[in-house]
Amino acid sequence: KKYLDESSERKRLNNEVIELKGNIRVFCRCRPLNQVEIANGSSSVVEFDSSQDSELQIISSDSSKKQFKFDHVFRPEDGQEVVFARTKPIVISVLDGYNVCIFAYGQTGTGKTFTMEGTPENRGVNYRTLEELFRASGERCGVMKYELFVSMMEVYNEKIRDLLGENSNQPTKKLEIKQAAEGTQEVPGLVEARVYSTEEVWELLKSGSQVRSVGATNANELSSRSHCLLRVTVRGTNLINGQKTRSHLWLVDLAGSERVGKIEVEGERLKESQFINKSLSALGDVISALASKTGHIPYRNSKLTHILQSSLGGDCKTVMFVQISPSTADLGETLCSLNFASRVRGIESGPARKQV
Ligand code: ADP
Repeated sequence: KKYLDESSERKRLNNEVIELKGNIRVFCRCRPLNQVEIANGSSSVVEFDSSQDSELQIISSDSSKKQFKFDHVFRPEDGQEVVFARTKPIVISVLDGYNVCIFAYGQTGTGKTFTMEGTPENRGVNYRTLEELFRASGERCGVMKYELFVSMMEVYNEKIRDLLGENSNQPTKKLEIKQAAEGTQEVPGLVEARVYSTEEVWELLKSGSQVRSVGATNANELSSRSHCLLRVTVRGTNLINGQKTRSHLWLVDLAGSERVGKIEVEGERLKESQFINKSLSALGDVISALASKTGHIPYRNSKLTHILQSSLGGDCKTVMFVQISPSTADLGETLCSLNFASRVRGIESGPARKQV
């Protein structure tokens, strides 16, 4: 009884927040200058506001400043735990039956993988989320029974590849999206591994990443040109009233958003960059259509948005991490990423306010 009361109270508060702020959050995260940039004497083009944590300013080469506003801005000194503290309430709502999508967007080298995967010493959102889901589901075990499943796939050149269903000796399995009877999108044949502990998940993610890099001449390069999607499926049974829920949490490390010079690239590389552009702008279009509550949501314009269709919109929750570099050399791409993010959020950016 107490659990049911708490659960409906959580849902009520949740709906209130959605009512007030919508269910799309855009977080900006700026990485620190790296050793090479420091050695080159590069200075930061990003200025943070000392009095609040949702704005930043970009200083252009002509010293003019442009201001951007997001739901939260993470600074270079903010560690993984600070980032996760803001993400946790959103990811945990998958246990209450909400579908959730978390994206990392930005130029290659700005920390998308650092934010999502992290490193063994400095684990990111993916690992911390699973840890939290196991912890919280254990806490509710008297009233709810949860089963967690993990799938991992890559979308490269509009083709879906199962990263858990393959090994280097097997040919690539071709996967397609199918519309299920209940109106959701399914990927028949995709491996769903039942998981019982974070250690197990960590091992699965490691093997998935290895499969991802097989055949690539440069693993980093390939990973920057494909989207990596980790899907956590939560099946819940309410032990009091027998009600069953099934919800998805998607943790997505997107392909690098950098524009490639039209003259330098041709053949395979040109095709790849066209696919990336198409899918990232399709994602931007879907999120901005959802944020502005326009009627038609163009989910079908890319595999990425199609596969995520039932987890984007409605009462689903979305978080977009816009990753940026503070370096002068990346100024152009930084502005592109911030403009993209402002557009999806439906917030206009503008010239900086006068400092007083
Ligand atoms: P991307 O996935 O966007 O290509 P990476 O996650 O590979 O970028 O990050 C590039 C490098 O910068 C990595 O060595 C990573 O560890 C480091 N890095 C990124 N963000 C941070 C951060 N916030 N703090 C410390 N190091 C970071």
